[in-house]
Amino acid sequence: MRVELINTGSELLLGRVLNTHQQWIGQQLAGVGYELAIQQTIPDTESSIEVAVSEAIERSELVIVTGGLGPTGDDMTRQRIAELLEVSLVDHQETRDRIISHFQKRNRPMPESVMVQAKVLEGSTVLPNEYGTAPGLAVSTSKGWLILLPGPPRELRPMYTVYVAPFLAKELPPRRKMVTRTIKTMGIGESTVEELISQELSEFLAQGLEIGYCARVGEVDVRMVAYGSSGPRLIKESETIVRQCLKEYVFGADEDRLEDFIVYGLIERNQTLVVAESCTGGYLSHRITNVSGSSAVFPAGHCVYSNESKESILGVSKIALEKGAVSQSVAREMADRVRLLHKADYALATTGIAGPTGGTEEKPVGTVYIGISTAQGTRVIKECNRCDRETFKYVTSQQALNLLRREWYKKARH
Ligand code: ATP
Repeated sequence: MRVELINTGSELLLGRVLNTHQQWIGQQLAGVGYELAIQQTIPDTESSIEVAVSEAIERSELVIVTGGLGPTGDDMTRQRIAELLEVSLVDHQETRDRIISHFQKRNRPMPESVMVQAKVLEGSTVLPNEYGTAPGLAVSTSKGWLILLPGPPRELRPMYTVYVAPFLAKELPPRRKMVTRTIKTMGIGESTVEELISQELSEFLAQGLEIGYCARVGEVDVRMVAYGSSGPRLIKESETIVRQCLKEYVFGADEDRLEDFIVYGLIERNQTLVVAESCTGGYLSHRITNVSGSSAVFPAGHCVYSNESKESILGVSKIALEKGAVSQSVAREMADRVRLLHKADYALATTGIAGPTGGTEEKPVGTVYIGISTAQGTRVIKECNRCDRETFKYVTSQQALNLLRREWYKKARH
């Protein structure tokens, strides 16, 4: 089955907005066995939309178009496609009601122009927009289906998950049944991952299992794909082997995030975690509090950026700070003191040099000490994360969360 994606939006071509739909929709499609054959980004002009869509529906069974469904003058996808397919635009009462209620709930005046979004292609299936006003539309074509989706990612993604994915599974199921599973690892390089698992999986590879490795910042994903009726068994058995080979380096699967693992782990254990952050500037707290339910296990996070705040808020000793705030002893004291301050079960602390300035020969840019304190003792690791400041914060927070994960892993083995 041929699948095409057309992203409309001059801002995408000007480089002002990153085309995240390409990646996200590509992932959703690939995850269930559709292969995206062509992707185009086109400007918001009538002629570009006409040319791109008319060619696409002629050659592909599934065509997805994003953007241009809004109420402004440059949103012309709906109108142009109606003309192209020679169907009328008709009033859709349910959408009209939804739009009115959308504005009422927000207590905002409703401009009359927004009602253009209640006009839908005659005969189309309307995909409700739970987070905005423009509905998506699914229109039958001579070869298959044309799906129109709104531009804003926070509208498009839930619409795709709730309405488009089940719609496609029913109306245009992928020809080959495909099963995928991604095992997420950290603390180990891509080549070592391959070395550790490829031999062990050779029997499954011969039976059709496909393996891909994807190295990201501080992580390596192992993506397994299998087709047909034996797919679920191949994936299940391969996953067992991968987990056995990679042991403590595995932290999750598919969409799992390390912060979810930590927060859910704390909830399960009925334990608490606090953090004291210097070089991560609150990023560690940010990641933890992104997980719903974290308030039950995360009583506090301190961003203690200066020596004074490390001393006055946490009580880190002057002597240790004078010897150097980026040091093993300061990381140790930060972790111990913040844990005692909040009577928590665990504490994590970070202190380092994010750069690009501030490095010395002894402590180059990227040097970071990460401490973990528990009732059983305190451990500090030293890392060197040479990257831009934002990536530095991400990698350091990942290493800190991983310290706690490994603590649990060690405990479970003893
Ligand atoms: P609106 O009602 O907001 O006008 P729309 O369906 O007409 O919605 P667009 O006007 O094309 O959609 O896009 C709205 C916004 O959504 C853009 O400014 C951009 O920020 C975001 N957006 C659109 N397309 C993409 C894309 N491919 N990737 C990421 N963001 C996008």
